[in-house]
Amino acid sequence: VAAGSVVSRRTGVEVVAIGTELLLGDTLDTNGAWLGRRLAPLGIPVVRRTIVGDDAAAIQQAVSAALANTGIVVCSGGLGPTRDDVTKRTIAALYGRALRRDEIWLAELRRRYAARGAAMPVSNETQALVPEGAVFFANAHGTAPGLALEDERGITIMLPGVPHEFRGLNDDHVVAWLETRIEPRAGPVRSRLVRITGIPESAVGERVDDVIDAIAPLTIAFLPSFAGTDVRVTSWGEQSAAQADSALDQAEALIRARLGDHVYGVGQTDLAAVVGAELRARGFTVVAAESCTGGLIAKRLTDAAGASDYFTAGVVAYHNTAKLRLLGVRAATIEAYGAVSEAAVREMLDGARQSAAADCAIAVTGIAGPGGGTAEKPVGTVWIGAATPQHADLKQLHLRGDRTEIRERSAQAALDLLRRLLLRARSESGGPRPA
Ligand code: AMP
Ligand code: MG
Repeated sequence: VAAGSVVSRRTGVEVVAIGTELLLGDTLDTNGAWLGRRLAPLGIPVVRRTIVGDDAAAIQQAVSAALANTGIVVCSGGLGPTRDDVTKRTIAALYGRALRRDEIWLAELRRRYAARGAAMPVSNETQALVPEGAVFFANAHGTAPGLALEDERGITIMLPGVPHEFRGLNDDHVVAWLETRIEPRAGPVRSRLVRITGIPESAVGERVDDVIDAIAPLTIAFLPSFAGTDVRVTSWGEQSAAQADSALDQAEALIRARLGDHVYGVGQTDLAAVVGAELRARGFTVVAAESCTGGLIAKRLTDAAGASDYFTAGVVAYHNTAKLRLLGVRAATIEAYGAVSEAAVREMLDGARQSAAADCAIAVTGIAGPGGGTAEKPVGTVWIGAATPQHADLKQLHLRGDRTEIRERSAQAALDLLRRLLLRARSESGGPRPA
């Protein structure tokens, strides 16, 4: 590839994140993640990310492998003025280029220090050392410029690791420059996240199995978490934006057909926001009575601005005496069946609804652990309940996981119970159901 030509038919960008702190796990490679999100809509996918320490041999090896793979490499980190920053001289050596002082950048750095009434530290002069023949990207956010080198093996771009500098240089210069050097795909890399809950990952996989072949070349990924198992569909840029959107619409319709009411939304939307919208649409209010979830449900229901339209109150009745005094649970109920029981969750539901004068209620009582379990009611035993003016539903869960997981999964399952009752109320009243 001659210098300055458009690199054609490259498969995408490789990222090499450089920094020993990244290997130790003290810092996450958010720069690589950010660049992936930044480039995907432009039809320039990040195809691999490698992390190496501040070590010349490791950097050389990673950059060489990345060049051999796609010929377009973005490096982050190791451009500082200290001894441990070796990226620039290592990659200059890989390209056989000497470092030369850039007098213009040196003057600029001196000018910036002078403007603050300070003298520039001598060590900072290394920030003005530039490999021969490098493309220079001025850094308005810090002292290390962005640099790009190119030969027949391809292009290597070096950017500082400090996240706001990495992002700033990309936004100011590098992304636009990259677009002139790479033949982009026909359209954007575009994804749709279909959010699914109340069904195990394996069952989602089985139901959607035939969709995978039907929607090719779009691809499917299954993303399990405490919230459920989301299905992400991706169009990889072989189609125009309009074609991709219509293909994603078709894929979403197929997935919805296979999973029915288990689908609660698309995109990053939280289940609680979906429940909130459903409450608002029906003019209902809700109260949350929580024990082991400690207010998680109330928190999520109030994350949306304007939640006072439907959210009246949350009661965290953690101690049994609070269940009696604040929610009107009867002492005899707790004595006979325990605080984690069908009878207790029913009384929590009714008591909360009455005291808050709400149309709907949601209640949770369970054993989140790690202590407090018994043979009869092991850790992970949770009773959830939901009620609308027309219906109520109670359910016992047997959850696995640590305390955080059990609490999060309980909150999610309780919200889903209410969502399903609201859908039922809606279909019985003849209102439109979501597609
Ligand atoms: P450097 O440019 O290597 O001097 O990095 C400066 C600082 O930026 C480091 O101390 C990290 O806190 C941060 N950093 C470096 N690399 C990354 C990365 N890949 N993602 C996020 N932060 C980073
Ligand atoms: Mg570093």
